[in-house]
Amino acid sequence: MKRKVLLIYTGGTIGMEKDYESGSLVPFDFSNIFKKIPEMKLIECEVSVHPFKKPLDSSDMGPNEWKIIANYIGKNYEKYDGFLILHGTDTMSYTASALSFMLKNLRKPVILTGSQLPIGDLRTDAKENLLTSLYYASLYENDEAVIQEVAVYFEYKLLRGNRTLKYSAEYFDAYRSPNYPVLGQSGVHLKVEKDLLLRPKTDAEFTVDDHISRDVLFWRIFPGMHLDHFSEIPNMKVLILQVFGSGTIFNTEKTQQILKFLRERGTEIVVVSQCVSGGISFGKYSNSNIFNTIGAISGHDITAESAITKAMHLLENPNYEGSFSENFSKSLCGEVTE
Ligand code: ASP
Repeated sequence: MKRKVLLIYTGGTIGMEKDYESGSLVPFDFSNIFKKIPEMKLIECEVSVHPFKKPLDSSDMGPNEWKIIANYIGKNYEKYDGFLILHGTDTMSYTASALSFMLKNLRKPVILTGSQLPIGDLRTDAKENLLTSLYYASLYENDEAVIQEVAVYFEYKLLRGNRTLKYSAEYFDAYRSPNYPVLGQSGVHLKVEKDLLLRPKTDAEFTVDDHISRDVLFWRIFPGMHLDHFSEIPNMKVLILQVFGSGTIFNTEKTQQILKFLRERGTEIVVVSQCVSGGISFGKYSNSNIFNTIGAISGHDITAESAITKAMHLLENPNYEGSFSENFSKSLCGEVTE
């Protein structure tokens, strides 16, 4: 039986070609994809293509597009065995993270991929990324999808989507998953690390929860930074503070005063690390004690991309019981080590 895959093309380099007159990259008509990559017809699955009307550079992708994609998957969930999203590389990790929170109790693969070079380029990485992603998106065993989560496939590696970050603007090997091992690798054989894959925690049905709030701010601290700015920012319901190493911040009166003021004003403070590998450990150094004192939330080893989209999804979301802090501290879909 041929598995059915819905390919959603959103934009990005993967769907562009060089306009030889202007020398710039421009999107090509994606309904011609089978002409560009005739090998797609050879794969043992049936692919339906749904291109965005106006392909977007991924820097233009945001909450509206995440909702559109999530709901489109929701609408077509029963009709397809797997989903492949072609996406610009710049913000792919944000979209992958947001979708992982929106698509609840997923039992089918949702794979995101893109490329560093356009499909028409002789040295393109697009073909391999696209073709192998199709394999992963249609991989079933005993009538059960092997991948049941949102994943990013790029340059021979399958990674948990909400653990990824774009690491390189230059190399084909553009993504990293610093705090969670690779889920699968494409070599001579297509490998999957079954023990590392996510499975829904309950028997509950698949649903889409597209709640997203934008009252979230992300701030990277630096030596010598003025903290006063924070007290002037309105509607900052969640502040994600990207601090040093395993959770330290300059230990001044001002730090204490401003962070306490924010907490009293009702701002949730989530602490993540500027190190991409490893994570936050409150209490390890005395310069992290302030976070315990004010009741800040530790982001542990979550990525910045995942912390931001998780906060946006959880903030004032009526579908969750319990406080923001309780829900943020849990792993919802493998985004943080528990
Ligand atoms: N600027 C492009 C994008 O993210 C880069 C890419 O696709 O690689 O849409």
